[in-house]
Amino acid sequence: MKYTNKHNLPPIIVNALMHDTYSSEGSDYSMTTLIKAPQQVILERENQSALTQDVSDLIFSRTGTWNHDGLEAGNKDNKDVICEKRLAIDIDGVKISGATDVYDRINHHVIDYKTTSYYAVKDALKGGAVKPEWEKQTNGYAYMWRANGYTVRGIKIIAILRDWSRANSFRDKNYPPTPIVQLNVPLWNEQKQKWYLRDRVDLHELAKAEYEMSGETSECTDEERWKIPDTWALKLKGRKRAIKVYKSEAEAHQNMDSEEHFVEHREGKANKCENYCPCRDFCPQYEAETK
Ligand code: SF4
Repeated sequence: MKYTNKHNLPPIIVNALMHDTYSSEGSDYSMTTLIKAPQQVILERENQSALTQDVSDLIFSRTGTWNHDGLEAGNKDNKDVICEKRLAIDIDGVKISGATDVYDRINHHVIDYKTTSYYAVKDALKGGAVKPEWEKQTNGYAYMWRANGYTVRGIKIIAILRDWSRANSFRDKNYPPTPIVQLNVPLWNEQKQKWYLRDRVDLHELAKAEYEMSGETSECTDEERWKIPDTWALKLKGRKRAIKVYKSEAEAHQNMDSEEHFVEHREGKANKCENYCPCRDFCPQYEAETK
């Protein structure tokens, strides 16, 4: 990975951002790799030395790591928890490793820290679901603990909200009163966890074999690309703003009831490709879509 410093950040910050102690310790896949799209994993591996990232884009992931380090240091004498333990399991001959932030020995909970935005936890705070990728990743960790002989009776996410606002906490009674919130994650049974991991391993191994044979990568899904769906705006000639925006073209056309009306197609953007995926410059799918 090559780093750029487009915004001329001070060297002490650049050094801290580039400091990365992560190691997958000889495993075939880490848990975080396993939940990524196979195409991204292949492109990252194949283009490792040519990948470029600006240091300014690392700030949120690194502050997450720094938060983890502080939380681990603060609990080093706490005998009720096991912190940052890397576990490994074997799924059909493929070695998977993953480091869980905390295992709570008293309640038998697997706990994962997330440094994230309020938006990412908003639904879960109102009783809705946590982000699907969090549910999958933490159930993967829970399976590792189970497979290593530990009981797991619950999964928690402790989210640190980087954009928390004290003013909002005074204004809105549903807004969290502190920047730290705890969320419950549905705990799957052991069989479901194993099936999920086996599916992911198969998907990655098949994509790898296919790539080795043909040089082609399997395409990322819309979900993996964080694609915002296409919409159709019903508009009035001569006006900039839409009268209403529809999720389907047919629905927009059904609501045209004047000769002055017309429908404008608004293509949804693949947010991950556009803004976050480090493989964008090497990705045939992205290239084909942006031609
Ligand atoms: S650029 Fe988009 S399509 Fe290509 S690997 Fe990344 S997420 Fe997938």
